[in-house]
Amino acid sequence: MRIRFGLMGFMMVGHLGAFDLVLDVGHTPKQSGAMSATCTQEYQYNRTLATHVDRYVRQHSGINVVLNSSQARPEISFRDRYASSYGKDLFLSLHHDSVQKQYLHFDVNGCPSSTHGLGFSLFVSRKNPYFSASLAYAQKIGVQLIAQGLHPSTHHSEPIAGENRELADAALGIYLFDDLKVLKFAKSPAVLLESGVIVNPWEEQVVRTEAYQDKIAKAIASVENP
Ligand SMILES: [Zn+2]
Repeated sequence: MRIRFGLMGFMMVGHLGAFDLVLDVGHTPKQSGAMSATCTQEYQYNRTLATHVDRYVRQHSGINVVLNSSQARPEISFRDRYASSYGKDLFLSLHHDSVQKQYLHFDVNGCPSSTHGLGFSLFVSRKNPYFSASLAYAQKIGVQLIAQGLHPSTHHSEPIAGENRELADAALGIYLFDDLKVLKFAKSPAVLLESGVIVNPWEEQVVRTEAYQDKIAKAIASVENP
């Protein structure tokens, strides 16, 4: 891990060993998050992406990665999520996005769809004990996602109930979400990534592809480099 310590008011940042990354699979099979345009649970997409990123990072970087929700124990508690971040360099929660109810249409099967939202979003909390490091990691990931050809979302800054998020960096798709529990209570720098909007029928098909998951994985693998 990276060691942060102060000495007579002088902050030093050292680097001992590998970069320690926690990949947090958003939601659980029972609390499965958003429903996609094909009625697929968000959790399934989060799980698939996290597994893909985990494999890529192990093969292509020196990052020490922990996937904090296993197939054997997928009903992870928030307390266990927070605990998994202790002493780590970065806690990264992986999610897929939706939009507010008024923008959704439902097909005959009850599957929601909308073209209102598109693109990735990154969230950080000013209540996280390592806010500036969290923001720096979000910026690094955002820059790399854009370099991979992905586009940041804008819909979370819309001044409506449920959104109204302050943009920390519009060009990189980074929003402030101070009371987001996994970010606020994490014991390390923490970032939440909404990697694509799964109620958008076009984007749902994109996020299913290995090519897309590779782009996300490459961006995440960049965090170890200073
Ligand atoms: Zn989610």
